[in-house]
Amino acid sequence: MTDRRAELAANLGRVEERIASACAAAGRKREEVTLIVVTKTYPASDVRLLAGLGVRHVAENRDQDAAPKAAECADLPLTWHFVGQLQTNKVRSVVSYADVVHSVDRPKLVSALSAAAVRAGRELGCLIQVALDAGSGEAAGRGGAAPGAVPELGDAIAAADGLRLGGVMTVAPLTGPYAGRQRAAFERLLEISSGLRARHPAANMVSAGMSTDLEDAIGAGATHVRVGTAVLGVRPGLR
Ligand SMILES: *Cc1c(COP(=O)(O)O)cnc(C)c1O
Repeated sequence: MTDRRAELAANLGRVEERIASACAAAGRKREEVTLIVVTKTYPASDVRLLAGLGVRHVAENRDQDAAPKAAECADLPLTWHFVGQLQTNKVRSVVSYADVVHSVDRPKLVSALSAAAVRAGRELGCLIQVALDAGSGEAAGRGGAAPGAVPELGDAIAAADGLRLGGVMTVAPLTGPYAGRQRAAFERLLEISSGLRARHPAANMVSAGMSTDLEDAIGAGATHVRVGTAVLGVRPGLR
């Protein structure tokens, strides 16, 4: 356990340095970027160690793993982000622990999240996940709305009880015109974000960048980076 704490501390230190130099290179203030540590596949004990090391934002992508972990860590001062594809039958559970859902990509999910948030008496932050692969957002099976669907989804979230429109999120595409061009993909996300902010000025969150491409995301203007592997280690056999 002590060794694991030291390992996480060292990894966090390296990620912090990367974020700080990316901010400096982009002429941005360090406070403009929030680190979200993606703890999927790792145990609640790691989440507890991370909280002890000063981490305040964690993310999960599967409700069946996240729900028990969040319950075990309910005493910790953490903001929980849900970043995975979300089925409507999981919405009630996710709303019970998540503060922000990054993967809102269709109107049906907006109404389900709204109903669950109202019922739970909570206000849930919602980011629109944008798919930047060519054609259908579902093409790569990773979810996300087509860029053209963002204005309508934004209006729906903004109008829904219990939901707060936070901004946009993307995962660098593996296929299509942006494959292998993370920086260009993230710049495109920033354009989409400014279109959204023209209608909804408070929706200023831009969630982009992971372990391998956080510098590209910060350079493009991301406000939130989602980092798993670089903090916790390579996930054995899982995505
Ligand atoms: C797993 C995951 C991450 C973190 O990825 P790493 O490459 O491990 O940093 C970020 N965002 C989403 C949506 C994820 O599912």
